Amino acid sequence: MIDPFGRHITYLRVSVTDRCDFRCVYCMTEHMTFLPKPELLTLEELERLSAAFIAKGVNRIRITGGEPLVRRNVMSLIEGLGGRIGAGGLQELTLTTNGSQLSRFAKALHDAGIRRINVSLDTRDPQKFRDITRWGDLRKVLAGIDAAQDAGLAVKINMVALKDINENEIVDMLAWANGRRMDLTLIETMPMGEIDGDRVAQYLPLSLVRARLAESYTLTDDDYRTGGPARYVRVMETGGRLGFITPLTHNFCESCNRVRVTCTGTLFMCLGQNDDADLRTPLRASCDDAMLNTAIDAAIARKPKGHDFMIDRRHRAPALARHMSLTGG
Ligand code: SAM
Ligand code: SF4
Repeated sequence: MIDPFGRHITYLRVSVTDRCDFRCVYCMTEHMTFLPKPELLTLEELERLSAAFIAKGVNRIRITGGEPLVRRNVMSLIEGLGGRIGAGGLQELTLTTNGSQLSRFAKALHDAGIRRINVSLDTRDPQKFRDITRWGDLRKVLAGIDAAQDAGLAVKINMVALKDINENEIVDMLAWANGRRMDLTLIETMPMGEIDGDRVAQYLPLSLVRARLAESYTLTDDDYRTGGPARYVRVMETGGRLGFITPLTHNFCESCNRVRVTCTGTLFMCLGQNDDADLRTPLRASCDDAMLNTAIDAAIARKPKGHDFMIDRRHRAPALARHMSLTGG
């Protein structure tokens, strides 16, 4: 699949649920309305949809959500897709999780063929963790990370950088993560979906964080790529890696290789734009994939050049009405 700007689309993110057992302040309101269950694709349909993308050249799939591990029987999908790694056309299957259920699932994830996971963790302070996630229990997440490493999964920590909330913990998180052989990636808050708080107040430009870190650490650019938008530096003092996902200070669209499908079978060609394509109708209309393939091709042919996220006092409303938990970031 090649889009109108010559970019090869080889990476699919599959959001298997919009539900979650946390209510992170930058992601959701406390009282969210979730999609009615009958709207959701079954796990078999999600696998068939993913397989159609693999047949079209997708070689990397990330399972995300909402919280993917709260979807009932999600392992049947993960095992099905895991079976397509190698000769089945998939190079890699990965997962993004909040870690709350990892203790239970770590071994099964590894057995299914997953080798790398991203765990979102914005703080190691139990009270602050509660404040940010509203419903989360830090001890469960830390136990989940232990279980993942014990099961042989490489763990990357994703930390949303929040002004005045966790910015003073970045140095500690870097030392902790790298000390446990985990990369740390910092993410700028993106203006997606109504939340209860003030996004402008939460926004911390990572250009500033990097400049501050460079005062006490030796950071050298690293070519390492994971298929996602993070750009990495090596940190001489910790011997590990630090990534930056900077949709606002540095737009990463020129090298975009990905599209996202939601749990209702809606395809988003860009995280930062509203245009979408309904794949559920062609998927259900026939058991061969001809109509589905036509719909996918038509969607890729209108993948936009990029997003135009903006956060400042004049743009207070979210750039996009949908929440990140629908598309999974
Ligand atoms: N529940 C899983 C988790 O938290 O890892 C997977 C889905 S979550 C939507 C994926 C990632 O998006 C998480 O790392 C989360 O911190 C991040 N995220 C959510 N809302 C965001 C926002 N408005 N701006 C930037 N990152 C956001
Ligand atoms: Fe749930 Fe992940 Fe959103 Fe937090 S960031 S509310 S864990 S979907």
